Amino acid sequence: MSKATHHALPLRFGTVGNPISTPKNGGSVGGVQRIRELGLSALELAWVQSVRVSDEMCARIRAAAEEYDVALSVHAPYYINLNAEPAMWSAGRERLLAAARAGYKAGATDIVFHPGSYMKSTPEVAYRVSRDRLAEVVDTLRKEGVHVTLRPETMGKSAMLGTLEEVIAWSQEIENVLPCVDFAHLHARAGDGSFNSYAEFSAALRKLAEGLGERGLKRAHFHFSGIAYTRKGEKQHLNLAEADIDYKAFFKALADWGVEGRVLCETPNLEEDAVLMQNTYRQAWLRRTPVNA
Ligand SMILES: [Zn+2]
Repeated sequence: MSKATHHALPLRFGTVGNPISTPKNGGSVGGVQRIRELGLSALELAWVQSVRVSDEMCARIRAAAEEYDVALSVHAPYYINLNAEPAMWSAGRERLLAAARAGYKAGATDIVFHPGSYMKSTPEVAYRVSRDRLAEVVDTLRKEGVHVTLRPETMGKSAMLGTLEEVIAWSQEIENVLPCVDFAHLHARAGDGSFNSYAEFSAALRKLAEGLGERGLKRAHFHFSGIAYTRKGEKQHLNLAEADIDYKAFFKALADWGVEGRVLCETPNLEEDAVLMQNTYRQAWLRRTPVNA
């Protein structure tokens, strides 16, 4: 018998990176165990500097995730830019491939990455260059038998690729691509305090549903946190209690729209807020007013 527990909620909650309370030297296996002890059920492995993990370690992470019923994702290295100069792109491409290959071995189903920046291109050109490169990466992984969903993330600064519309469009055009929607980034990206209400969160969920159909809201992979920002966007992530983000409205929207998938917490206190998110969502779920999309 496995120790897997059945969770009644449509959404799994967890952290990006190991919980802070993971025992020292526990590594990702310790992180998986700690997630379950906290009553959470998802973990995004933060391979954000580089991918350095042996096949043996991948097998151990995978076994722990199965034993404890923790859904795994990978956050790929930051140094990936789909719109970079060719030499830079070939290095970024290797990082993205490495994250996907090792993540798949470790039992991760979803590989999150930052799509890059516009550089000197127009948004339209940057979008197309990125689309073609991402399609090639997906094709390479498919030929290798690496079955993962690649998740370009919505980004918090206006100079960066990764609007909600761009991540939806890549997902429409390329198989095995779906968004990682970071709602705090979208709030920060607006830069004026907007994108912070039940109506605005609902409008984003409607865009996902209309743009991607069933996959949009039933295979959701969201990041959430408090956030500090200027007019140009994101400054830093904040704990929920210290931020202006209306998290109660956000989780009510997720409950009302019947979103299924994962929410990963990226606040500085990680698991404390992940648990708060899950509790807030559970209350909203019990009192939901279903939306008829
Ligand atoms: Zn990220």
